[in-house]
Amino acid sequence: MSPTNERDPYELRDLALRAGRELENATPHRIVEWAAGEFGERFCVTSSFADAVLVHLVSSVAPGVEVVFLDTGLHFDETLDVRETVRRTLPVTVRSVTPARTVGRQDGEFGPRLWDRSPDECCHMRKVEPLDNALADYDAWAAGLRRDESKSRAGTRVVDFDANRRKVKVAPIASWTQSDVDAYIAANDIPVNELFNRGYGSVGCWPCTRRVAPGEDPRAGRWAMFDKEECGIHL
Ligand code: SF4
Repeated sequence: MSPTNERDPYELRDLALRAGRELENATPHRIVEWAAGEFGERFCVTSSFADAVLVHLVSSVAPGVEVVFLDTGLHFDETLDVRETVRRTLPVTVRSVTPARTVGRQDGEFGPRLWDRSPDECCHMRKVEPLDNALADYDAWAAGLRRDESKSRAGTRVVDFDANRRKVKVAPIASWTQSDVDAYIAANDIPVNELFNRGYGSVGCWPCTRRVAPGEDPRAGRWAMFDKEECGIHL
């Protein structure tokens, strides 16, 4: 975390909109180079540790970068294994961020298994609020969003202004396809969540993630019982 003060949000907005236009066709490395150069220690990368593609890419340009992980208390062991591998093998500092309430306290206040009744509320407490709090320490954050993942992500810009948090949001691999990701994993021996070898197409918290059938949309296994595609941190 950087001790320096946050930058003026209006300045950040103008910077983001300009860089978004200029870097639209730039390589992911160039986009990260810009963000790391512009924001220094006030730039971080977020990861859900489904894989370590973005963390690897960012750390190759900005070694020492902080990686924010939303530790909901409801992750698969396989996800925590990827976190541990990243911690041991890549030049990054992993910062695991926890919600204000433990799962037990949430159960006590809102009833057991809130995710089965109100996943939006659960995601808000366990993901959105903790991320909002963590991002107070940065001016810019990178996420692994890709346009080909879903309709809601089709308009992702490589650099944008996150108006809710008043931060610059960077999506270096927005234009990548799944094939690009697979090629990067193969070329760089990237740690990948073991669950992908067991029928999962996308990995989140265990109560809200199921396997997908061959040919099914990879994200269909997330919140499958609800009309919900996103946890809320990217809305
Ligand atoms: Fe809760 Fe499910 Fe959201 Fe995890 S993904 S925070 S368990 S609703």
